[in-house]
Amino acid sequence: MNKEPVSRELFDEVMVPNYAPGSIIPVRGEGSRIWDQDGREFVDLQGGIAVTCLGHSHPGLLGALQDQAEKIWHLSNVMTNEPALRLAKTLCDLTFAERVFFANSGGEANEAAFKLARRYAWEHYGPEKNEIISFKNSFHGRTLFTVSVGGQPKYLEGFEPAPGGIHHAEYNNLDSVKALISKEKTCAIVVEPIQGEGGVMPADPEFLKGLRALCDENDALLVFDEVQTGVGRTGHLYAYQMYDVVPDILSSAKGLGGGFPVAAMLTTARIAASLGVGTHGSTYGGNALACAVAQKVVDTVSQPEILKGVKARSDKLRKGMMDIGERYGIFSEVRGAGLLLGCVLTEKWQGKAKDFLNAGLDEGVMVLVAGGNVVRLAPSLIIPDQDIEEALERFERAVKKLTA
Ligand SMILES: *Cc1c(COP(=O)(O)O)cnc(C)c1O
Repeated sequence: MNKEPVSRELFDEVMVPNYAPGSIIPVRGEGSRIWDQDGREFVDLQGGIAVTCLGHSHPGLLGALQDQAEKIWHLSNVMTNEPALRLAKTLCDLTFAERVFFANSGGEANEAAFKLARRYAWEHYGPEKNEIISFKNSFHGRTLFTVSVGGQPKYLEGFEPAPGGIHHAEYNNLDSVKALISKEKTCAIVVEPIQGEGGVMPADPEFLKGLRALCDENDALLVFDEVQTGVGRTGHLYAYQMYDVVPDILSSAKGLGGGFPVAAMLTTARIAASLGVGTHGSTYGGNALACAVAQKVVDTVSQPEILKGVKARSDKLRKGMMDIGERYGIFSEVRGAGLLLGCVLTEKWQGKAKDFLNAGLDEGVMVLVAGGNVVRLAPSLIIPDQDIEEALERFERAVKKLTA
């Protein structure tokens, strides 16, 4: 086995240059703390980008992983397996869903969702009804189909020709959707209840209710991309439950495995029927190890005291960031829900979000950005109070230096 020491420089020698990772290499995590190769300790408000929803090295998740690892890892979809069946049953019990398809990433769950929406319309209404309405600034993944449905043209640059039949309306603007939708052509509207990558922009409740009504009037399916907002992130198991608007298809990933790659597409029995035998698949989808870990994540996160705790932690973190924002004149607002928060930089600091991330690292706190103008926080849903306090102190020190 190759046990040579590795450094950040190696990245540039052996990795495709599509990422620009920071200079430190974390090697160990526990709860909401992370240590790098030199033993430096950080408070983690990144949460692996809304993934490690129960922090690092959670004993329950470790136990679930080890238990299943000693039984069976993988079977392929020629066989079903107990963890996948149990997890699907749990997701159906806890949500609107009646049928579940498992995948490995958000992009792959969305790919399944969009293919299903097209296939359902094709089967029930004919091939003309194939158009998807999505939103500017949205993010749905990096496969060619999902990046085309996404509303950030820069991510498509140089990868064309893109799949067709996709239109982008203005987020939180129902009139812009009405201008694009038709009963003859539209098969689905795809929306994030809170745009994550696009700047932690929450939907207005009336907007989502309006989309539901437009879908019903036009025989189109409403697809909620809850890859970032799902699995307790907003203080509800899924954000649709907070908005009280029920989608036809929902995609879930990121937090679902708490750090183990797994994703799911949820839908109704009637719609699921359009993905008959052989129409779609995924080798690793429904992998036994992944589903056993996700089961523990969902069982844990869906506990009422965990979800209530998200709201309490959110209030504390939001207030702390607003106070820092006021003291140093850096934030115009802190938006989002639960533990998906976006601190919007004031005019003076536009485009400088990455500077705050780097300044935070220097002081031992990891934050995220969403675009150039938003400092994004997506910590563990069970981050201890004292870690929130420590993170706020460290972030304030970083801000003080940066703004001096
Ligand atoms: C992260 C994200 C995706 C893509 O997920 P991957 O696992 O990276 O493929 C899709 N939709 C939303 C809303 C996301 O936040």
